[in-house]
Amino acid sequence: MVLTAHLIGTLKDRVIAGGAIEYEEALALIEIEDVHLADELLKAAHEITLAFHANRAGLCSLINAKSYLCGEDCGFCSQSVRYETSAARYELLEPEIIIGAAKKAEQQGAQNFCIVTSGGSLSDDEFERIEAIVKQLGEETDLGIDASLGFLTPERVRRLKEAGLRRFNSNLQTSREFYPTIVSTHSYDTRIETLEHLRDGGVEVCSGGILGMGETREDRVKMAFELKRFAPECLPVNILNPRPGTPLEHAPKLEPFEILKTIAVYRFILPRSNIKLAGGREVNLTKEEQEKALKGGANGLILGGYLTTAGNPVTQDLNMLRRIGYEV
Ligand code: SF4
Repeated sequence: MVLTAHLIGTLKDRVIAGGAIEYEEALALIEIEDVHLADELLKAAHEITLAFHANRAGLCSLINAKSYLCGEDCGFCSQSVRYETSAARYELLEPEIIIGAAKKAEQQGAQNFCIVTSGGSLSDDEFERIEAIVKQLGEETDLGIDASLGFLTPERVRRLKEAGLRRFNSNLQTSREFYPTIVSTHSYDTRIETLEHLRDGGVEVCSGGILGMGETREDRVKMAFELKRFAPECLPVNILNPRPGTPLEHAPKLEPFEILKTIAVYRFILPRSNIKLAGGREVNLTKEEQEKALKGGANGLILGGYLTTAGNPVTQDLNMLRRIGYEV
């Protein structure tokens, strides 16, 4: 396929009209090497964003409600007990701390608040405590309450939904083919099953991945096509921030050019998803490159830091979004 600015425009028009791009077409887009064509790609991606989302930015904040202590072996993660890292170690936080953090995030402009816990699955006791917190936050704030609690059964999805949970995060992380290189203690299908339970149970889906773990461009496109089956409301794009002590601590950095193209191609594949720049954006992209991403397919941010790493000050991020033309 010979890619031209005209062809990028044709694909963009098709997506805006409600059509879809094929796998081979997405691959041709991500293979662009010419910087001018890449600029056209980003411009077209932004037009798609505006067509489906106008200038509304998706913002959310999260709290790491239980840190480290996880028995899984995800090679990028500093919270696995298999790796000696400097990540904070604590059991599930007290409800007052989680509720206080949510209220603070709301005051700072967050629309959604995500309670994240490390580990494959919560114990029954931990799950009940989170369930009660979700209920209380629904009564005391206007936030969309989200959670990321590892793997879920249909029964747990039902209970979270009843408690008022809006959305649940479970990232696919990468392609099915590349996943076993990064994780050996659970399968890709375990993650897929949680997404299926969420869709069946009527809970919104947040699912994305991590760029820069050694995957190929094909892997990046394949992940987006896996995600497409679930039409995630939110697609967080993390970029590996190599954590000392993890197997990926010395992974080479991914070029910003590749990151920007990938985000633009994700917009073509998943036009209706909120594509959020997430963990690692500050260390892998300059301020200008983050702005470029937000004008090239992404339309949201995780605010105020991540699970084990700090982020930009919230006001700085909000100013960046306003400067670009987003409503926050
Ligand atoms: S990503 Fe989640 S499941 Fe994997 S090691 Fe980290 S905390 Fe555990």
